[in-house]
Amino acid sequence: MPSFLSIVYQITQECPLDCEICLRKYTFREKPINPEGRRNMVDILKARKLGRLNVTGGEPTILGDELHKFLIYVHNKQIHTCLTTTGFRLNREKLMQMDGYVDQMMISFHSVEPSDWQAMYSHRRFATELYETVMNILEWCKDTSIIMEVNTVVHRKNIGQITDIGWKLQQINPNIIWRLDEYYGMGLKEHKRNDFELGCGEFESISNEITGKFDRLFRDIHFTSLDQRKTSPGFLITHKGELVTTFDFRHTSTGFHLLRGAQLPEFKMLRDWSEYKKVCRDWGWGDL
Ligand code: SF4
Repeated sequence: MPSFLSIVYQITQECPLDCEICLRKYTFREKPINPEGRRNMVDILKARKLGRLNVTGGEPTILGDELHKFLIYVHNKQIHTCLTTTGFRLNREKLMQMDGYVDQMMISFHSVEPSDWQAMYSHRRFATELYETVMNILEWCKDTSIIMEVNTVVHRKNIGQITDIGWKLQQINPNIIWRLDEYYGMGLKEHKRNDFELGCGEFESISNEITGKFDRLFRDIHFTSLDQRKTSPGFLITHKGELVTTFDFRHTSTGFHLLRGAQLPEFKMLRDWSEYKKVCRDWGWGDL
């Protein structure tokens, strides 16, 4: 029986923001699966030994209580529960509640300048609110046991301030995992890729600089280059409940739909399973 170990679930495609670097593939008029369908999906995955579910979007928090009930359901199944969010409209009280059912949270931090956030998120009011919220979340999470992962997508427009971002994060909360990913263009904003893509060797160079400056100053630092992102296979469940592989930035259907109860596929499209397992081991998700 194949084991999924860790899967990303795009619970919704919807998002109130409009980031210049958004990777979403948006398909209009396709309804997401309903709460009961989601719970069935989790039951199926749990029976296949799912170890970790990373709930992402769009922006998951727009689902409000529906999201939180789902996360509680996942957590009660003893699945490592990770929420990827911008932090949109989260507050201290909610975060304290989430401590009871969210094991890990990933939020984005791409600039130390609030004006850059307004430009990047293309929504002035939300972006200003969000900058404050993210700062607060980094502070508030010190009073929780949630593993906080901060993601910085490194691209042509922010590469000059990565060190400043590091010092800012380190000052607010050094107990975070700082994850730096090299930008790649796909999805809704693929046409903007030339504005953001780094030149040859730039990511490697900034990675070395950051390692030199911040070694041991965070809980952990991870770098993922464009090539590594390209060649790291993974699974994603779309908002419709379809299981796809994400190797090489392509979403390739496995032919398996979580709601239709078909037999699980053999995952022939996943070219390097051993590498995937290694990633899982490295990140402490389990050893197969
Ligand atoms: S990157 Fe995330 S926050 Fe930004 S528009 Fe896309 S889904 Fe929304």
